[in-house]
Amino acid sequence: MRASGSVTLLKGPQKNILVDAGSPWDKDEIIRGLMRQNVRPEDINYMVCTHGHPDHVGNINLFTKAVLIMGFNIQFEDRYFLHDFKQGIPYEIDEEVEVWPTPGHTSEDVSVVVKHTNLGTVVVAGDLFECEADLDCPSLWQEMSHQPHQQEQSRIEVLKMANFIVPGHGPMFQVPEHMKSQMKVIMVVEEQFYSPHMTSSVTECIITETE
Ligand SMILES: [Zn+2]
Repeated sequence: MRASGSVTLLKGPQKNILVDAGSPWDKDEIIRGLMRQNVRPEDINYMVCTHGHPDHVGNINLFTKAVLIMGFNIQFEDRYFLHDFKQGIPYEIDEEVEVWPTPGHTSEDVSVVVKHTNLGTVVVAGDLFECEADLDCPSLWQEMSHQPHQQEQSRIEVLKMANFIVPGHGPMFQVPEHMKSQMKVIMVVEEQFYSPHMTSSVTECIITETE
């Protein structure tokens, strides 16, 4: 399906989790993509937005039955839940799915870690990784980064734990083994001014079965 950012459905026997909500103009595509998986918007139990940029939060209003996790904030209806993402503590949705603080692209980015899938550990990472190509071309993510040093640390953490990564703007990719062994990422650019990005790319709607 076409949209401006990855929208990922994690479909399990007990609950459905949607990671990122596209841009406002992707509404119909997202509904159609979910329907192809026999999921209605009201069947989503958790709506996780990896960060607050418009191409990742545009349709949260479709998912009013879901607990909303947006960056470091968790809300359901009029209740606001405190969780100490700032201290690096993951939020456990269940035994297989955790929301990890992975700041850098913005100061409050999160990634969704799905363990024990048929692919191993899959991390839905939002714009922590823009696309597979940014592994070899750091400027692709650094140009979008609010805090490049912090993002570099978050990327290393995710590369260590993930077998596969769903990036913010491109298809899922396998983490190359050499990335796990040589974890030193060299910063090319020390400081960047932040500019919100308006790139559009193909959205991948990926289903990961959680047991
Ligand atoms: Zn972004």
